Amino acid sequence: MAETFRALRVTKTEDGQTVELVELTDDDLMDGDVTVDVEYSTVNYKDGLAITGKAPILRSSPMIPGIDFAGRVVSSEHADYAPGDAVVLTGWGVGESHFGGYAGRARVRGDWLVHLPEGLTAEESMAIGTAGFTAMLCVLALEEQGVRPDDGDVLVTGASGGVGSVAVALLSGLGYRVVASTGKLDERDYLTSLGAAEVIDREEFNTPVRPLGKTRWAGAVDTVGSTTLANVLSQIKPGGSVAACGLAQGMDLPTSVAPFILRGVRLIGVDSVYCPRERRQLAWTRLARDLDKAKLAATVRRVRLEDVPSVAEEIVAGRVRGRVVVAIRG
Ligand code: NDP
Repeated sequence: MAETFRALRVTKTEDGQTVELVELTDDDLMDGDVTVDVEYSTVNYKDGLAITGKAPILRSSPMIPGIDFAGRVVSSEHADYAPGDAVVLTGWGVGESHFGGYAGRARVRGDWLVHLPEGLTAEESMAIGTAGFTAMLCVLALEEQGVRPDDGDVLVTGASGGVGSVAVALLSGLGYRVVASTGKLDERDYLTSLGAAEVIDREEFNTPVRPLGKTRWAGAVDTVGSTTLANVLSQIKPGGSVAACGLAQGMDLPTSVAPFILRGVRLIGVDSVYCPRERRQLAWTRLARDLDKAKLAATVRRVRLEDVPSVAEEIVAGRVRGRVVVAIRG
């Protein structure tokens, strides 16, 4: 009899969607040239939206969500991967249009995988996941725009979230003075332990937007969008940059051209999903080198596959602190 594995399956129905734990076999998986025994996955904000059905993330039904996974190759027709290789996957539409990480096995295109970087365990790679990988892409963007620790404070919005927590840890580790903006002021100690020099109330950025404000930031990582990002832009120092990756407050951006044409402010968009392979490898190598493992561990809560639906509700409600790792085999 064929070997079975557990999977979390979402099926669209007339009045919404059902989420259930099912037993599948390799024959149920989608096409791909590498099959992986999945050891760990994670719950990102996007996974929360997919499982709760709060946004149309899932492109077909039934679907196994889970936009990230880490595990070991069991079979491969791809030149770069052999059985036993430790691999990581984030993005590429996996868990959206291709069966994802909430299953004991996944079959994907080898071109979507990266080798687990030296210095990281599979579990650590999922503590990082898309959120941490995106934080690294934001840091790379600021560095490439010439934002240096000596230039002044850097701001991280949505700081207690997954992207924000890792961004705070990375930037402080690289010598930046990091100011963390949060709605969870009771998480001050947590954010300070990650390296924030100062913790401020996110309501400061939820005010009517002026074209130009008092300059405060050499750079910023914004995970929130909307009025928050507009206010942040109006406070960036001349020549400074913002790496924008998120929309936790909203997709709109009620700003003007003033920060761009009067202060030369740069707004850099960051997309992790279709990030090219070479840049992916660079970001993972930097994560293995620059991210303090003890700080990473402090961001993590470990759950099981059956806990994912309730964590999905929590993350969409903005109640999750840091990162969640899913141990697929319990
Ligand atoms: P989390 O839910 O872990 O963190 C988001 C944080 O944003 C919350 O913890 C909260 O932080 C803050 N927040 C939530 N709601 C609001 C609100 N209404 N107004 C202001 N702040 C709010 O999500 P992730 O860190 O995983 O993702 C952050 C964002 O980045 C999401 O929008 C996600 O979709 C996006 N993203 C984009 C990627 C890309 O490739 N571009 C990849 C990964 C994520 P606090 O309480 O500290 O204020």
